[in-house]
Amino acid sequence: MAPFVVGSQKEDARNTTPLEQRLGQATSVVMPLIELGLLGYVTWVLCYLICIQYLASPSDELQQTFNIQPRRSTGIALITVFALLLLALLISWMRLLQVIWSKVDILEPGAPGVEKKDVDSKHLEQYDAYVCDYEGVPLFCDKCRIYKPDRTHHCKELGRCIRRMDHYCPWAGGIIAETTHKFFLQGVVLGALVMAYVWLVVAIFLAERISKVSNWIAALAIGVLFSIFATTMACMTGYNLAINYTSVEAIQRGGITNIAFLIIRQPNEPTQLHTPPTSSKSEEDKATEADDEWPVLRFVERSGGRNFVVMQNKPFQHVWSTSMMRGWKDAMGESPLEWFLPLKNSPWKQKSRRGEFRWGEVVYDMAKKFEKDNPGARLAILE
Ligand SMILES: [Zn+2]
Repeated sequence: MAPFVVGSQKEDARNTTPLEQRLGQATSVVMPLIELGLLGYVTWVLCYLICIQYLASPSDELQQTFNIQPRRSTGIALITVFALLLLALLISWMRLLQVIWSKVDILEPGAPGVEKKDVDSKHLEQYDAYVCDYEGVPLFCDKCRIYKPDRTHHCKELGRCIRRMDHYCPWAGGIIAETTHKFFLQGVVLGALVMAYVWLVVAIFLAERISKVSNWIAALAIGVLFSIFATTMACMTGYNLAINYTSVEAIQRGGITNIAFLIIRQPNEPTQLHTPPTSSKSEEDKATEADDEWPVLRFVERSGGRNFVVMQNKPFQHVWSTSMMRGWKDAMGESPLEWFLPLKNSPWKQKSRRGEFRWGEVVYDMAKKFEKDNPGARLAILE
């Protein structure tokens, strides 16, 4: 089966109805409220029931019957550490919600009924390279009626195109995308730490108690459950940021991408264009094709008389893949301080003329191979 082309629209892709969208969005309000309620509950168990009632000033009954002695300094120390972690989590979450609610990653749809040929795509053709269809035209969203910047994906919950969409997360309170991805990771890491702290503290003191207490056990269960959930999410998100994949791209792994490269000098000789493989070509022949043979699909003239050559990568070549440290820093910031503080935006928000995002190594290899095979040709991306 031929690999699918990234960005191609499925014929039967159905847009969600406004009612479905409203229901989806309502969950992103309800879920955070439930989580806040649970957070309040475990805070009460940990700080009041355990640190104050049990450790700092145990009742006469506890002291006499179970020989529990007051441990005031332990109680205060445990509350202090928890308060610091909780404060960091709440600040991080508020920052995430502030960015989500500012809707900065949501693209405005085009005018109702407007046709593709009447929509302007100039702003996407200003770069040295951009993702396109076979004709060299930037990708188009039929539902929003706009040309999509690279890595944009249509979100069915919001019914809009989202810049560098990762996923819609009702747990966090909305869309995780270009601007929110960094703050989301910081939030889930802190969430995982807070919950791990909760279940560890509860488990330690539950073990020494002879009479088990239902509130303690409930807090332990909540702590363990959310700790597993948040840790898994943090590991997945951190890894995806380092290898520079969004969740959408990870699902589409293996697909091929067409890229238009701006030509600043034409080749001396006409270029041999790629012809689609015929059925007579054996599987063995296809398999022996060199990894660095990237098909040249066509030459196109776009807005402003700018000339591009359209080339295609191979399946499983990730066009945004750089080194893991580079991917991490592009998402989280150059300095370790930025990795922890939910203040500055991801460096990838600063666009250069190269493209919407920093291109991966394979894209530069494609450009170099083109220049090597076509003497005289110069591509802007290598300048
Ligand atoms: Zn769309």
